[in-house]
Amino acid sequence: MLDTKIEFLKEISSEKAKILKSELNICTLKDAFEYYPFRYLSKENYQKISQIDSCDIEVQIIGKIISLEEKGSGKKTRLSAVLKDDSSLIELIWFNKISWVKKIIKLNEKVIVYGKPNFFKGSYSISHPEIEVFNFSNQKLNFSMQGVYSSNEKLRSRYLNSRGIYKIINKLINSYSMYIDETLSNEILKNLKLISKKDAIINIHSPKSKLLLKHAKRRLKFEEFFFIQLSALIKKKFTQKKLKSYKFKKIGYFFNNFFEKKLEFELTNAQKKVIKQIRKDLNSGKQMNRLLQGDVGSGKTIIAIMSMLIAKDNGFQSCFIAPTEILANQHFNQVNTILSSIGIKVNLLTGSTKFSMRKKLFNELIDGKIDILIGTHAIFEENVKFKNLGISIIDEQHRFGVSQRSKMWSKNINPPHILVMTATPIPRTLAMTLYGDLDLSIIDELPPGRKPISTLHKFDSNRLAVFEFIKKEISKGRQIYIVYPLIEESKVLDYKDLMDGYESICRHFLKPDYQISILHGKMKSKDKEYEMERFIKGNTNIMIATTVIEVGVNIPNASVMIIESAERFGLSQLHQLRGRVGRGVDKSYCILMSSNKLSNDAKFRLSTMVKTQNGFEIADADLKLRGPGDLMGTKQSGDLNLKIGDLSSDFNIIKYARYEAKKIIKNDPKISHIANKLILREYKKNYSDKIYWSKIS
Ligand code: ADP
Ligand code: MG
Repeated sequence: MLDTKIEFLKEISSEKAKILKSELNICTLKDAFEYYPFRYLSKENYQKISQIDSCDIEVQIIGKIISLEEKGSGKKTRLSAVLKDDSSLIELIWFNKISWVKKIIKLNEKVIVYGKPNFFKGSYSISHPEIEVFNFSNQKLNFSMQGVYSSNEKLRSRYLNSRGIYKIINKLINSYSMYIDETLSNEILKNLKLISKKDAIINIHSPKSKLLLKHAKRRLKFEEFFFIQLSALIKKKFTQKKLKSYKFKKIGYFFNNFFEKKLEFELTNAQKKVIKQIRKDLNSGKQMNRLLQGDVGSGKTIIAIMSMLIAKDNGFQSCFIAPTEILANQHFNQVNTILSSIGIKVNLLTGSTKFSMRKKLFNELIDGKIDILIGTHAIFEENVKFKNLGISIIDEQHRFGVSQRSKMWSKNINPPHILVMTATPIPRTLAMTLYGDLDLSIIDELPPGRKPISTLHKFDSNRLAVFEFIKKEISKGRQIYIVYPLIEESKVLDYKDLMDGYESICRHFLKPDYQISILHGKMKSKDKEYEMERFIKGNTNIMIATTVIEVGVNIPNASVMIIESAERFGLSQLHQLRGRVGRGVDKSYCILMSSNKLSNDAKFRLSTMVKTQNGFEIADADLKLRGPGDLMGTKQSGDLNLKIGDLSSDFNIIKYARYEAKKIIKNDPKISHIANKLILREYKKNYSDKIYWSKIS
């Protein structure tokens, strides 16, 4: 029943069904029930106009519209209404969709108005509030708590504002809630004192009491995390139990030779620990599936190199995959320089590898003439075949979809070992959930001698002083990055900012005293390589770039990172960019440039950057600020589409969910006990198809 398409329900007009589908992806009854409110209103939440004293929170007012008039003309036409309650007056303004607002509003009729206040020229007003006639039916509704749902302009124009959505869902619940089935076992419900699924759904939309709302949330969050954990554990079990992989028994000539002759530094204790964990995995006969997490600059590349050497010592090929061409090139140059001298054949495959080269490379790969293939996404493609791939390493995993790593599994008869690396520090709760099927290694120590990076926030008006500072650093032989936001490479405006910036820098830093490189996504890859090369060699002093250099780039002599329009970057991006400096022995700086006008969020981001260099603290702040749905990496991978769970605050629930999921896997590995019947049904129905290995097995 819950899979019934909402367009077939008599409670919803086909027009509304259509727009709910296109705007909110609500197709079935189940989808509607799971479109949860993000907060609640109750009668206590009505405000007096005179009490409004902030622009940060929405208000709900009951009053009468005492005047209504269109102001301005043409495109600037706006509709202005004055709302009066028994305490004061406030202006309501609409800039578009004026005609349908005019249709709703009648002078001197009692209305409920809901929206976020603005403060302008000494008084409050509300733009584009939701407005509804106050009548008997919604008066009744307002006696219980009711959900507030996110909506948008398009939905609002079809009367599907928050209240409209609420009414629809409420109607559906009245007619169909008896079809909501339980999904958890009695034992779990009892042990954790959870309310039934049906009661939870009813009370998440219109809670009968605050206590019931709390229970409803707890129940639904638990369920969400429980099934995610359960599928992660099943995946893990599957990988551990079934998948034989190649046993790398020995540490031989190549590893030892590298270790004794080529390694220029002593490994940190954390690196040693990780290498040990990896060696053990590789020698176990079962497939390694390991996530290596280490903050920017903690030295993950060397771990990748050493793992590939172990493969070579045991007669296997390996590959090393990076998210950008620039990074793939860098890895290739670094690895090739070190390893070709000890007789290892390294090659590079990226999107811009020429067709004729590709053919040769593919042949060499399948003949086993190439030991290590380094490259980008191109390596995932099906036509890239190896003779005997033993290990596949994915750098900056958060830039790839989580499921992409499974594409490597089919590249040998047995699946090769998999090591994924990420610098974006993921809060522990997220790691447990998103990567629950991987074993975790952590490098929690930076190489010795690193000096902390001084991070400063400067306004655009200080630009000249910043330029003076750059000149001083260059005179000491240092190199400088200046990064411009170019979130999507095609954005014309961003591109103009970058070019304007470039010209202005060229005017201040005149040749021949200063040499400048520029790097952005629109350039041909040959030109990118050329510019990168000049900077690496120290032939240029300043590198003007977009976020193409965000991850992985390692140029130890570059010690100043200037980030332009820093307010436009997310926290983890800022942290990654800052990680490009502080890689050598010199004192390093990160300067965040911004305009004077900053939103509260932007202020928080910039001050967090100034305050801490700890990746985990930054990740936590990021999580608080943006919510997990938007956290870098999760959005891209799309794997963690949480409907109600909150990774930053639900740690306890996650812990219990994991505990219960583990118990099931231990006591009833096939989930075949009659007591777990409901769990199995829900798992099969809504979770098992998300398991990517089904394609492979
Ligand atoms: P990331 O973890 O961000 O990928 P890299 O692997 O690029 O970091 O390493 C950053 C820099 O630190 C490189 O120049 C690398 O050679 C250097 N490095 C790595 N490990 C050590 C170590 N144990 N001692 C000194 N320098 C190291
Ligand atoms: Mg790296």
